[in-house]
Amino acid sequence: MQFITYNNVYVQPIVNTSTKSPITLDVLRLDRLHNVVSGNKWFKLQLQIKACQQANKTTIATFGGAYSNHIVATAYACKLEGINSVGIIRGDETKQLNHTLQQAQSLGMQLQFVSRTEYGNKELLKQSLHCNNWYWVNEGGYAVLGAEGVTDVYKWIDDSYTHIACATGTGTTMAGLIKGAAPHQQVMGITALKKHDSLQQEITHLLTTKEAEKSFTIFNEYHFGGYAKHPKALLNWMNHLYTTYQLPTDIVYTSKMLYGIFNLIESGYFAKGSKIMAIHSGGLQGNLSLPKGSLVFD
Ligand SMILES: *Cc1c(COP(=O)(O)O)cnc(C)c1O
Repeated sequence: MQFITYNNVYVQPIVNTSTKSPITLDVLRLDRLHNVVSGNKWFKLQLQIKACQQANKTTIATFGGAYSNHIVATAYACKLEGINSVGIIRGDETKQLNHTLQQAQSLGMQLQFVSRTEYGNKELLKQSLHCNNWYWVNEGGYAVLGAEGVTDVYKWIDDSYTHIACATGTGTTMAGLIKGAAPHQQVMGITALKKHDSLQQEITHLLTTKEAEKSFTIFNEYHFGGYAKHPKALLNWMNHLYTTYQLPTDIVYTSKMLYGIFNLIESGYFAKGSKIMAIHSGGLQGNLSLPKGSLVFD
C-alpha cells in the first residue's frame, strides 16, 4: 500500500492565448495525489475517517453506484487505516464485477448489493443493515465533515486568486471550497448532472448561515447531455486539452468543468485581471471505460 502524500500535487499554469483580456487560469492537479484515492475523494474522507476512529468504530459503511470513485477511494483509505469497509452498491450483482467493484473488493471492501428501489431509501437501509460498530459515510462523502476536509486544498490557493472553480456531483467539494474562500473570492461549480436543481440547497445545507452568504455560482449548461455522457465533441475537447496543455481530464467531471471555464472566458464572463484556479478533482481511471484509442492519452 502506498501512503497518501501531497508531494505530487502541483499548480499547472494554463496559458490562454485565445482571449484578448489578460486572464490567468491555473489548474490544481489534485489528480496527482494518488492513483486510487485520487483528487477530491481523499479530502472528503479524511475527517470522517478520524471521526470513525474517535468514536471507536471498526467499520466504515458507505453507498455508491457500480462505477463510483468514492467506493474505491473509501476501500483504499480504510485499508490504509486498518478499518473494515462495507460498500452498499446500487443494482443487482452481476455475474462478473466491473473494474471498480473488483478493485474495491480486492482492497477488502465487503460489497452488498441492493435493488434500485431499496437504494432509493437510504435511511431505511441504514436502519436494517446497521451494526453497532459501523460508522456511516453518505454517498459521495456528502457531509459537513466531508466539506471541512476539503478546505485543506487552500494550502495551494493563495489570496491572489479571484475565482475558484470545481466540477460538482454531490456538491461537497464545492461546499468545502466556499467554506475556505476569502471574502473576495468567487467559487464556481460546473455541474456534471443535467437538471441538478437541488444542488444549491444541498450545498447550502453543508454551510453555516454566514458561509452561505459568500459568493458562489452554479453553472448548469456544460453537462454535454447528462451525467457520464461523453459525445465525440467532448472526447475531441479532451484530446485538445491534452495536446495543447498536456492536461489529462476525465469524461465525467473535469473535462466538462474546463469546457465551461474556457467557454466563460471566451464569452467575456471574467473581468480583466481575473485569476482563476480550477480544481482537477481526479477521476482519470473512469476513462478506462472508453474503447481503446478514443483518447490520445491514458
Ligand atoms: C466524485 C467526483 C466529483 C464530485 O465531487 P462532489 O464533492 O460530490 O461534488 C468531481 N470530480 C471528480 C473527478 C470526482 O470523482
